[in-house]
Amino acid sequence: MRVQEQTTLARAASGFGAALHSGNETRITLRPAPAGSGVVFRRTDLRAPDGARLPDAEIAIPARAAFIADTRLGVRLRNAAGATVMTVEHVLAALMLAGVDNAIVDIDGPEPPGFDGSSAPLIALIEEAGVRRLGAAREAIEVRAPVRIEDGDRFVEAAPAAGRRLDVSIEFPEPAIGRQSAALRLDDPADVARLAAARTFCRLHEVEAMRQAGFGLGGSLNNAIVVDGARILNEEGLRDPNEFALHKALDLLGDLSLLGAPLFGQVRAHKPGHDLNTRLVCRLAADLAAIERRVVPLEGGKSARAIA
Ligand SMILES: [Zn+2]
Repeated sequence: MRVQEQTTLARAASGFGAALHSGNETRITLRPAPAGSGVVFRRTDLRAPDGARLPDAEIAIPARAAFIADTRLGVRLRNAAGATVMTVEHVLAALMLAGVDNAIVDIDGPEPPGFDGSSAPLIALIEEAGVRRLGAAREAIEVRAPVRIEDGDRFVEAAPAAGRRLDVSIEFPEPAIGRQSAALRLDDPADVARLAAARTFCRLHEVEAMRQAGFGLGGSLNNAIVVDGARILNEEGLRDPNEFALHKALDLLGDLSLLGAPLFGQVRAHKPGHDLNTRLVCRLAADLAAIERRVVPLEGGKSARAIA
């Protein structure tokens, strides 16, 4: 039986821009990595007190559930040495959408550049570098029984289904957002493109409070949709009538990638957020009865070989 192979980047590719929350001008460099290593961020700006370079183990932060440190406004990861990286979700979603299993993500600051607030510029970087097969079987996680996380009327749920599906609905009091939903298949290139292009958004009344708390300092109409009641302040308007729900689905996909492998099944969410998304990820990672790792068959393949 032929199986899908793990991938990495064919060569390094680099981009530069302001980080969304910290506002720092930051460089991100996506680099090739060996099979089985997953996605690992590295804080290349960190130094020892005497200015010396730090060993790799101290600056490397694996993009895995066990390293989640905070989920307010974005996902922050932290390693055992205390090195952190924040707002990782759009980078992780880009790698997932581009089908890259293994990568080193070097960042010379605490947060990657925000670019235009979507994952599309990061996918363009990946395409510039090229994607290379590694000759090792790609593993996936198959949902075998429903797992649901709730908070009031909000929920995120993973359930068995053929393929990889995301079904997200949101509800905001602002008429410019209102109720929206998006049902997506990750094997459909059109859905992948819609997800990739969906920008982050914020509400004008939140901006001041966010800035006083030290967040959103790099945010602008160039890297976020800003909504004020019934108005969208960005002159160019929306890229998709459901761009808000699509971005929530993009965030969810980035968070799910912290499982370390693609998830096969349907993930449904109502009013999702990084708090609920990462709780689902941690539950799935811990609940071995609900998941089965398996080698992914080719599209249309007749059998899947479960990993014993
Ligand atoms: Zn986001």
